Amino acid sequence: MDEFRHDLWPGLDRRIEDMRGELVELTCALIRFPTVNPPGDAYTPCAEFIARRLLNDGFDVKLIRGEGTPGDSDRFPRTNVVARIEGKRSGPTVHFNSHIDVVEAGEGWSFDPFGAEIRDGRIYGRGTCDMKGGLAASVIAVEAYLAANSDFPGAIEISGTVDEESGGYGGVAYLAAQGLFSKPRVDHVIIPEPLNKDRICLGHRGVWWAEIETKGEIAHGSMPFLGDCAVRHMGAVLEAFERDLFPALARKQTSMPVVPEGARRSSMNLNAIHGGQTDDYAGLPSPNVPDSCRLTIDRRFLIEEDLAEVKREVVAILEGLKATRPKFDYNIRDIMEVLPTMTQRNALVVEAVAAGISEVFGREPDYVISPGTYDQKHIARIGHLHDCIAYGPGILDLAHRPNEFIVIDDMVESARVMARALHMLLHGPS
Ligand SMILES: [Zn+2]
Repeated sequence: MDEFRHDLWPGLDRRIEDMRGELVELTCALIRFPTVNPPGDAYTPCAEFIARRLLNDGFDVKLIRGEGTPGDSDRFPRTNVVARIEGKRSGPTVHFNSHIDVVEAGEGWSFDPFGAEIRDGRIYGRGTCDMKGGLAASVIAVEAYLAANSDFPGAIEISGTVDEESGGYGGVAYLAAQGLFSKPRVDHVIIPEPLNKDRICLGHRGVWWAEIETKGEIAHGSMPFLGDCAVRHMGAVLEAFERDLFPALARKQTSMPVVPEGARRSSMNLNAIHGGQTDDYAGLPSPNVPDSCRLTIDRRFLIEEDLAEVKREVVAILEGLKATRPKFDYNIRDIMEVLPTMTQRNALVVEAVAAGISEVFGREPDYVISPGTYDQKHIARIGHLHDCIAYGPGILDLAHRPNEFIVIDDMVESARVMARALHMLLHGPS
């Protein structure tokens, strides 16, 4: 790292502090776009708002629609914004990627979820923490950096992308498939997801979603012995899971530093179960023996586990039932697969953000792994770029909850970390 950087910090910190009001305004403006996903509302005006600001800062700006991706329509276009500014000399590219979509507000708010109210040094609203506060902090970090240091090597990119909350297919996955998250265009990616201002998130666990269907035979409910009840078969599946699978999963521990600690084991959620007649009909049921029962499983697995083995474990239980339980039959269908990913501790982006954290907070960062996935998966799998982490302000536990907020001081401090990391990455290790 160059010598010059320590002369740069006081001026940079002062600029960021001077921009505190702008940072708050920017965050509030972003919150007022109700970019709720699903359905993917207000993406275009939000992306255009970011585009205008970055254009004004001297960036080349593109609006890119995730044409034909899930949920994309003329009414709800998947509009992403990607902005790039070149330095005066060649060098690496540092990219800040934030998703602009938020989940529905839900019940239980004491504030207008899209009102961006400020109270006691916090901004309240859906998406403040996850993750428009992080987006705003990264924009301010970059703007302050450009103002303090116009003579930089390489390039800086900022993107606001859609659909992260629904898998990222119209956002980062779509852009990554076009080479926008690959070398040589991009070298380092920081995703300002709310993992707390002094922690670095290296990656996430893996995901396997699947639907298991048990089969039966329809008959009159007064003579169930003439049919075959699919719901009872599913009961046997659940019993076998309780007896054989859940205890086995709880024994699988990972060396990944997943937070919270409870997620350092394999886990499986039973996401939904449907058997027999639908429950969206208000009339009386007719007496039928159900011939189908469907269970959706959400299995989260560890970097030490292999996806094929994860699947085999479930299939073995189903096959065991098929061999021992009369008339038992099943189908299993994959819904989604995500492999676990973990960036190396000695990756340049990790070292730069760690140095920034220790300078701003006077202590070493915590290194964590997210229990759920985020857009890093697409950057790793599609972009083949492994110099990527999540780092941003905000308390992870507040994400998706009522009265979500971001602490203004946390945004300011994390902007200082981001600006430092940006400088160190652009200049490379020395
Ligand atoms: Zn998020």
